[in-house]
Amino acid sequence: MTVAVVGGGISGLVVAWRLRSRGMDAVVLEATSRLGGVVGTHVRQGFAVETGPNSFLDREPATRELAAALGLEDRIRAADVSAKRRYVYTRGRMRSVPASPPAFLKSDVLPAGAKLRVLGELFSARGPEGVDESLADFGRRHLGRTATEVLLDAVQTGIFAGDVERLSVGATFPQLVKLEREHRSLILGAIRAQRAQRKALPPGPGAPAKLGGALSTFEGGLGTLTGALATALGDAARVGAAVEGLTRAEGGGWRLSVNTQGQRAELDATRVVLAAPAYVAQHLVRPLDDALAGLLGGIDYAPIAAVHLGFAAGTTPAPDGFGFLVPPREGRRLLGAIHASTVFPFRVEGGGVLYTCMVGGARRPELVALDEAQLVTLAREELAALAGVDAAPSFTQVFRWPRGIPQYQVGHLARMDAIDAALARWPGLHLTGNAYKGVGLNDCIRNGLQLADALVDGSAR
Ligand SMILES: Cc1cc2nc3c(=O)[nH]c(=O)nc-3n(C[C@H](O)[C@H](O)[C@H](O)COP(=O)(O)OP(=O)(O)OC[C@H]3O[C@@H](n4cnc5c(N)ncnc54)[C@H](O)[C@@H]3O)c2cc1C
Repeated sequence: MTVAVVGGGISGLVVAWRLRSRGMDAVVLEATSRLGGVVGTHVRQGFAVETGPNSFLDREPATRELAAALGLEDRIRAADVSAKRRYVYTRGRMRSVPASPPAFLKSDVLPAGAKLRVLGELFSARGPEGVDESLADFGRRHLGRTATEVLLDAVQTGIFAGDVERLSVGATFPQLVKLEREHRSLILGAIRAQRAQRKALPPGPGAPAKLGGALSTFEGGLGTLTGALATALGDAARVGAAVEGLTRAEGGGWRLSVNTQGQRAELDATRVVLAAPAYVAQHLVRPLDDALAGLLGGIDYAPIAAVHLGFAAGTTPAPDGFGFLVPPREGRRLLGAIHASTVFPFRVEGGGVLYTCMVGGARRPELVALDEAQLVTLAREELAALAGVDAAPSFTQVFRWPRGIPQYQVGHLARMDAIDAALARWPGLHLTGNAYKGVGLNDCIRNGLQLADALVDGSAR
């Protein structure tokens, strides 16, 4: 049995790696010349910069299991403790995001009236049952308008670079909906959950040190993980192989049309896993199933650019904390920035400073179309205005992702049910990747491993 996996991002690599580890034949077909998709690490002039994701929360058993199986467990590197501090640029200056309820009461991140409104959350009502709400509607009901625009927006921007008015709360933060359903108030729910956790796990030997999980990367950057998967897959992962067509083969299998540097060839497979973006899957399934193609094509993506600015040692002070986010109400051109050299000091040689500025998103998509020099100028101007960084960088690098992050908009959960129902018409055809059930690296790894296991165990159709 051969499984053809279309797309060599983290999702596709994980599926194929697991299938092969469990004795099933699998091949990855990747259109570009490089495996890893949006994940990758470049090292130049002593700065190790990430093409896309910067880190993951080390609390997902699937990611730990994958790292261990690849011999990478010893190479997981936790962020510096100072990365726990985060900032929001609001009301004209940088303000620290409180990490605990007492800190929130003392904090100036929200004006006094908005803080009082957050305390009113204790009395907030449940939303209408079975209605997929926007993150903004959910946030306004529980936390009020200002906290939604400043704090909730910052949380989603750090993951989706999206628009709170359009994202679905159920698809992006299902844990919030669960808290509301079970406890009505999020604050009450969080307090009860913490109490229950403490009861279940009394402190002492054997108790896990951190339930939240440390923000982490790998020695050598996140490219270490995709590089190890590529090495493990060897010739089973083919680059420069764009899948352009998909048809039913006689006898129930699949026939793929693969374009390898202008040469078209056909490849037969018993099963196909589409791990390419939803807009690619849409084109591939269009001739088979117009309705499924329509559902896939309705998943929107936000463009994003990562603009890295590196400063030689001594030219600008090392910034404190993980980084900062900028709510849309400030009217700025930066979504935020990661203090990459503070979070992971080993990413920069010789004491330099590295900022990773994020531009675009659902809020300002047009900015991602600027050329690289313009993006560097924009990032420098914004860093100077927001964080007072006016030194000249000695290193710059830009990575642009015109369709970077899938947007789980209101209706996404119903769309996923309809996609699953449509897929049931096509045994042997499977979808995975960041467009469907989680955009984080942990989600992609967990979902990829689960799909591969279901294929091996025979529980997938
Ligand atoms: C700028 C940025 C920052 C992020 N930051 C974080 C972070 O800090 N932490 C975190 O957990 N997550 C982060 N994410 C999200 C996470 O990195 C992604 O969701 C995840 O890596 C997506 O992996 P994937 O394999 O599903 O998709 P992709 O990486 O998009 O891979 C899909 C692959 O399919 C290939 N392909 C396309 N068409 C074809 C075809 N016709 N034939 C064959 N192959 C094809 C593509 O070339 C690509 O390699 C970030 C994402 C971005 C863009």
